[in-house]
Amino acid sequence: MQTHNLGYPRIGSRRELKKISEEYWSGKTGYKNVLQVGKNIRRENWLLQKNAGIDGIPSNDFSFYDQVLDMSLTVGAIPERYHPVILNKDNTELDLYFAMARGCQKDGLDITAMEMTKWFDTNYHYIVPEFRKNQQFKLFSTKIIDEYYEARQLGITTKPVIIGPLTYLLLGKEKEAGFHRLELLDNLLPVYTEVLKRLEALHVEWVQLDEPFLALDLSEKEKAAYASVYKKLRQQFPRLKIILATYFEGLRDNTSLAASLPVNVLHIDLVRSPQQLDAVLDALPEKMSLSLGIVDGRNIWKNDFDQSLTLIKKATGSIGSERIWIAPSCSLLHSPCDLELETNETILKPEIKQWMAFAKQKLHEVFLLKQLSGDEPAASCLRELEANRQAVQSRKTSKLIHNQEVKQRLATLTDSDAERESPFAVRRQLQHKALGLPLFPTTTIGSFPQTPEVRRRRAQLKKGEITLPEYNHFIEQETQQAIRWQEEIGLDVLVHGEFERNDMVEYFGEQLDGFTFTQNGWVQSYGSRCVKPPVIYGDVSRTDAMTVAWARYAQSLTSKWVKGMLTGPVTILQWSFVRNDQPRSETCNQIALAIRDEVCDLEKAGIRIIQIDEPAIREGLPLRQADREAYLNWAVKAFRISASGVQDDTQIHTHMCYSEFNDIMEHIAAMDADVITIECSRSQMELLDTFADFKYPNEIGPGVYDIHSPRVPSKEEMVVLLEKASAVIPAEQLWVNPDCGLKTRGWNETQQALAAMVEAARDMRKAVTTQVVG
Ligand code: GLN
Ligand code: ZN
Repeated sequence: MQTHNLGYPRIGSRRELKKISEEYWSGKTGYKNVLQVGKNIRRENWLLQKNAGIDGIPSNDFSFYDQVLDMSLTVGAIPERYHPVILNKDNTELDLYFAMARGCQKDGLDITAMEMTKWFDTNYHYIVPEFRKNQQFKLFSTKIIDEYYEARQLGITTKPVIIGPLTYLLLGKEKEAGFHRLELLDNLLPVYTEVLKRLEALHVEWVQLDEPFLALDLSEKEKAAYASVYKKLRQQFPRLKIILATYFEGLRDNTSLAASLPVNVLHIDLVRSPQQLDAVLDALPEKMSLSLGIVDGRNIWKNDFDQSLTLIKKATGSIGSERIWIAPSCSLLHSPCDLELETNETILKPEIKQWMAFAKQKLHEVFLLKQLSGDEPAASCLRELEANRQAVQSRKTSKLIHNQEVKQRLATLTDSDAERESPFAVRRQLQHKALGLPLFPTTTIGSFPQTPEVRRRRAQLKKGEITLPEYNHFIEQETQQAIRWQEEIGLDVLVHGEFERNDMVEYFGEQLDGFTFTQNGWVQSYGSRCVKPPVIYGDVSRTDAMTVAWARYAQSLTSKWVKGMLTGPVTILQWSFVRNDQPRSETCNQIALAIRDEVCDLEKAGIRIIQIDEPAIREGLPLRQADREAYLNWAVKAFRISASGVQDDTQIHTHMCYSEFNDIMEHIAAMDADVITIECSRSQMELLDTFADFKYPNEIGPGVYDIHSPRVPSKEEMVVLLEKASAVIPAEQLWVNPDCGLKTRGWNETQQALAAMVEAARDMRKAVTTQVVG
């Protein structure tokens, strides 16, 4: 039996990579320092894995920005617009690399960055390769070879990790019409051949080719490509030992295909899909070994050793322990680095911490699982098994996790809890009467600029430099100014501005039972950006109202309506580490009930318009088509549970910010929010056609300007967009708003933009009235 690891977090346990690259970008440090920090992180990671007793240690899992961008540089897939960066002799390969990742505005150049998108269903974002018809590739960066050599210099023999040729192409995008990127395979393969040749020349024994697409829905063409590519590679490299890594899904209908590929080891994700083990064992040819991805690479929970050992035993019983490898389910890129750095017991209680494992701890688990699967495990390993059993047992029974009241309430949920009293057509009339809003009502998405001053005060409160009353007084003033100013420019539905919130999920997590936080649980989101997700460890409940005081305060300042502002259950779930001892849908419903109570309390406090944000609902979509419907059903239901406790004449809004709604329109409509505000100014209202074609029944606020840019839109251009909108959607259904929250903007541009937006809505009203009169 062997152990191996698919990849280790490369941000550094103290986020060294973030710090050095940001310093470099702002010109505060030199090129050599960046390289040195990279080198230090790699060294630290390799030694750590060696000390953990891991047999197969990865190299080329390090990246200064993104592993897919690394691959683009390796195969020379460098879009033409970056060629001036290469031609300038002052630039290094790293400058080119960062220009592709982040764009380049210097030396008279102004080049846009490459696109970024989500890495499968994780919160990691990769740089999308750009392909052109008949594109040629050539070995450009020798990173894979250099890093292997670097590790060997340190006395560590590694297994280079390389994104497989099919996954690499499938991750990319055609930048011109008239071809499919898989047609580039024949051009691309020679570069893979060259890389592997060079590795062989260095006596590399093992390489890991990552092909997560093999676990997704594949067309017949793609399946055939898998068979032929791996056959070719094998013919060229009869002796090279290949680990083919799949993850994030089960192999399902691709099982026999995967087992037929001429590779030495097949890695499967047994955390996502433990049920695939039997079928894979059945299909596995005699000369192939199996890598069991058994330690969760994407969550922060301790492994359940007994459960894992049962699976391992089944596998060894079936094909013999010599053919079994033990590993994390996927790269540990998606876990925080080291639980030992969590030393503050008021932030993370020891009782909860004992249930957790970060990347470093997960490697130890892999090591232990191998030892415990052996004939005579050492006494120390058996002691760790015992400790693991106790931790697992305590999670099953701990009062911190299990709240009978919550479970009971969940058990008695009925379909009617997810239904408003009356259908939208009825609600709509009641709401119009109660709210008295004009045609084309104007509003914003919730947050106003989080100025350095706002952030400074929050930091001061955290450090105890100002008291809570002092902080609250400051927030009151900010809110007051925001309300005054919204009244002045004439917005119809006001917001309080969210000045009191650090983050739209954290703010709620901090006030809900069942959530905890970490000091250093950082995970890379993209480039130098890291997030520290809340941890949902137990039954979720709400002890006190979370937003009512600020909403009531804001409403008390004005005779206009102030919109209550909440984050929806699916988004809270999606942006947290979620407990793995019950289905995600159940946890989501618990959050939904907590939000429902908040919605009802807001209504009681006189708030008649309440927005429940669900920007992440689409992100939760399962990778396999066959699972999507089930997810959408429970996700939509959770939203409806959160929204359905109010009277008919209370208006529920929702907000979403990703523009691919075409395939889930039916479910968005099923959310039955009275009003949905969506991002669509960048796609010039194309999205609206989707809503129009579907005959979306409820009210819609298509964002009329892009808040991601500091640019101030003119009244005229917003009128054009609104005219486009009212050409396809009846005017009575339309709202006027920016396309997302304004917290990242400055006040100056925000004020100008919103004043112009209000004017645009006024123009639209005038036009409609003259039409009616005329
Ligand atoms: N209400 C939130 C805000 O305005 C919504 C943020 C989001 O859509 N991501 O900031
Ligand atoms: Zn948004």
